Amino acid sequence: MRIGLGYDVHKLVEGRPLIIGGVNVPHEKGLLGHSDADVLIHAIMDGMLGALALGDIGKHFPDNDEKYKGADSMKLLQYVNELIQEKGYKINNIDSIIIAQSPKMAPHIEHMRKNIANVLNTDIENISVKATTEEGLGFTGKKEGIASQSICLLIKK
Ligand code: ZN
Repeated sequence: MRIGLGYDVHKLVEGRPLIIGGVNVPHEKGLLGHSDADVLIHAIMDGMLGALALGDIGKHFPDNDEKYKGADSMKLLQYVNELIQEKGYKINNIDSIIIAQSPKMAPHIEHMRKNIANVLNTDIENISVKATTEEGLGFTGKKEGIASQSICLLIKK
């Protein structure tokens, strides 16, 4: 088995939708990025790639490549899953956390888990998504951005 760690941050700005875990979360601001800036999915992909020492998402999906402008991160997740399958591995389980002062993530967590489990072709019990605030501290606390961390365990198919 192989284990990997993922981390990502995006800035909150006006005039962008807030897409997290493939869910369009109603909010007055959204995350800025070259793709759809799905911070949770980016952290998960980085964890999956890290588990097989395949580099990071910046290497696989360069942010200066027009191909990935506005890209649906769920499609990129599908690609990363195919990559690990080709290497002879599959997801055992993923744990992840969204670090955001607002909005509340709780109403959307189940939907996010379902989206991720569907794309990764695994049981929803294998996908954990949690959320926390940083008690008003730091850039997430000041609502300047949203961060996400993920850890992923892969097993041989
Ligand atoms: Zn990102």
